[in-house]
This record gives sequence, structure tokens and C-alpha cells, in this order.
Amino acid sequence: MNLIIGSHVSFNNKEQLLGSVKEALSYNANTFMFYTGSTQSTQRSQINDSLTYEAFKLMVDNNIISDNVIVHAPYIINLANRQDESKVKFYIDFFVDELNRVKSLGFNKIVLHPGSAVNCTKQEGINNIILGLNEVISKSSDVIILIEYMAGKGNEVGSCIDELKLIIDGVIDKNRIGVCLDTCHMNDSGIDINEIDAFLDEFDSKIGLDKIKCFHINDSLNDKGAHKDRHANIGYGTIGFDTLINVIYNKRLENVPFILETPYVNRNSKDEFAPYKYEIENIRNKKFKDFKNEVLNE
Ligand code: FE
Ligand code: FE
Ligand code: ZN
Repeated sequence: MNLIIGSHVSFNNKEQLLGSVKEALSYNANTFMFYTGSTQSTQRSQINDSLTYEAFKLMVDNNIISDNVIVHAPYIINLANRQDESKVKFYIDFFVDELNRVKSLGFNKIVLHPGSAVNCTKQEGINNIILGLNEVISKSSDVIILIEYMAGKGNEVGSCIDELKLIIDGVIDKNRIGVCLDTCHMNDSGIDINEIDAFLDEFDSKIGLDKIKCFHINDSLNDKGAHKDRHANIGYGTIGFDTLINVIYNKRLENVPFILETPYVNRNSKDEFAPYKYEIENIRNKKFKDFKNEVLNE
């Protein structure tokens, strides 16, 4: 089985996509996910085509396929919120710009948080998301929007299969819409990840497994159903290493890119380091090795 695995990496001002590819390769990944700039602001640097070209050369040399690379939309876009017209226009325009950026970088998939219902019911929030998605899709081309399965924090929309189905049903151009699952979000929404096949059965009958275009692999700091959304390193949380391995190696998820969004170890201390190289190694070996202590004792 050809495992497609990577993590989120940075896309910085200096090396842009070339830096992202180099970072992914340093983790022995064969795919990656990135934000085109800040997750919380609209600030974006001009794309440098020669850096993109260099990045693609490096990807080809290392068998990273562009179809497996994922972009994540910034968090500030909330299509569920249509309280004021100027905001709606801002969300739509910025998201269309973002889709164009994804396309000009040579990729075709972007993950979007469906949004949070602001001063409206969930059903109204879902209708707002559908309106927004159809407008964005009509004003852009090619790039597939992957709505992410959420933990159900606050008024978050999209924390169960039925809500994702309602959104997808309302999107006119079905070729432009897919789903990104996330093990931490699923656990926190109340799904037992040990019963992944039961979940996939339900997903298949309601939406169709072919719509799963990306899977975020994270352990969780919280118990099932906590509606919290706090990621833990693989094997260091409440879901557990073996359960996550069973998701990653599930036959029905072959060819789905798996992306780690786990936290840096010892964040904000002098011992801080990225966990991805070690997590990917453990996943490839299907064997948990406690890397947190090992790395520090080296
Ligand atoms: Fe996300
Ligand atoms: Fe995620
Ligand atoms: Zn999350």
C-alpha cells in the first residue's frame, strides 16, 4: 500500500513554496499542507513564479504529486455569517482570491472550515454556507473546496455527517466540493474512532467515500464528545496510536492524503521541535516509539 503522508508546513515570505517542499522532505513526507499566508489576516505576499518552478522540480524529483498537496484556507473566512453585507463581500472576495492563488501555485484542493452560525440557527448557517460556496465556485475555477469535519466547538457548523451532507446537497457544482475529515475533530464531536468502519459506512451511504479527499490525523487532548478541538501528538492523546494506525491503514482510505496537524513539542521553550519526522517514522513502522524524551536526550 502506497501511504500518502505529510504534515502542515510553512509557506514563508522568503522561499515560499520551495521552503514548504524542503520542510516536507526533511520530515520524509510525500505530501504536505500549507496556508498561503497568515491564518488570521488577509496579508499575502506576491507569488514568485520562479520559486514555484523550483519547488515543482524538487517535488517531481522526490515523487510528491501535486494532486496530493493540500492548501488550508485562513480561519477568518466565515461563510455561515451573513449578518452584514460588507462582511459577506469580504469573505467571498478574499476566498475567491485564495482559490486563484491555489490555482496559480499549481494545486487543486483547499480545506475550508464550514463556519460558525452567528446570531442565527444552525440551519440558517448552513443555508448561508451554501449561498457563499455557490457564489465562490461560480467566480473561480478548478480548485476543489474540501469542507472540514469540525469538533462542534461553540456554534461551529459541520460537526456531523448530516450537516456536511446538507451543505454538499446545496452546492450546485458537485465536482468542486469534497470533505476533509479530522480524527481529533471527529473524536471531540462524539465519534468513537475505534469504530472507524461504522463511521465510513454511514459516510458512504449518505455522502459517498469518493468525497473524502483529505484526512487530518491528530490525536486529541480531550475525551470523546468534549466539543473542544485541541490536538495532541500521535500516541500521546485520548485516541491512541493503534486506533490512529487503523485509520491510516484502512483499505477504504487508500489514496487519501493524511496530514498531521499535531503541535510542536515543548512549544515556546528552547527545546521546541517539530514532531512530524518522528510521527511519520512511527506511522510508517506501525510502532509507537516515545520520541519526546528520546530527542531531548540525544
Ligand atoms: Fe482545519
Ligand atoms: Fe484539521
Ligand atoms: Zn482542529
